[in-house]
Amino acid sequence: MNTGELVIDDLRAGIPGREILQGLSLTVRSGEVHAVMGPNGSGKSTLAHVLMGRPGYEVLGGSVTLDGIDILSLPTWQRARAGLFLAMQHPIEVPGVSLVESLTAARQTVPGADSGPDVTARLREEASRIGFDERFLDRSLNVDLSGGERKRNETLQLGVLRPRFAVLDEIDSGLDVDALADVGRRVEEATTEWGLGVLAITHFRRLLDVLRPDVVHVLAGGKVVATGGSELAEIVDRTGYAAYT
Ligand code: ADP
Ligand code: MG
Repeated sequence: MNTGELVIDDLRAGIPGREILQGLSLTVRSGEVHAVMGPNGSGKSTLAHVLMGRPGYEVLGGSVTLDGIDILSLPTWQRARAGLFLAMQHPIEVPGVSLVESLTAARQTVPGADSGPDVTARLREEASRIGFDERFLDRSLNVDLSGGERKRNETLQLGVLRPRFAVLDEIDSGLDVDALADVGRRVEEATTEWGLGVLAITHFRRLLDVLRPDVVHVLAGGKVVATGGSELAEIVDRTGYAAYT
């Protein structure tokens, strides 16, 4: 079981000429689920991009550490190897590369992963757990998949790679009620199965009925403006974000 923490401290970041995250701090410990909610344009995806090191975003101040390691100085692949995972809001298509190939390559970079079950066996197990059609496993990554299938695909990769911390950028968008329950349940189980720490970015409370948050943060204007328990998600769901912006 993993133990550790992802610490975001006074993070300021943005695109050239514009500071989007304006001093954001939060700490996720292994096994915890933190929800980040906030209106459109509040900086949620920017946070996800900056954590994973997407080109085009610059860090202006503050720090992010994973078990004490400064991850902002690492290239993206080393952040992944350190145990950070991103489920993208808009997963990209990778023609010519199948899920099996991409996950086999990814697992080879993880120290000690060779001793685990082979990728294909774990893929099949994970696919059946979230109701993902095995037909997609050998096809090009995300090509011709519906929005909901792509989100299941992101969840499947999470289950196979078993990272220490996962940032889920609106993994609920485009999912129907059943898929939402499958995906939410799988991630929730990961928190006890191997101590996954989760930063779940979402607009809506519905995901959080299945993936129970320990802590809820409201993001507005690039800052955490409120933090509370799961009741905060219910309040936001009822009253909207007007009180925080
Ligand atoms: P959210 O995910 O909360 O809806 P984003 O982080 O995507 O918000 O965006 C925050 C703000 O920063 C928005 O006004 C958005 O237009 C702007 N922004 C984010 N990334 C870029 C980018 N690469 N280029 C230009 N503007 C951006
Ligand atoms: Mg977004």
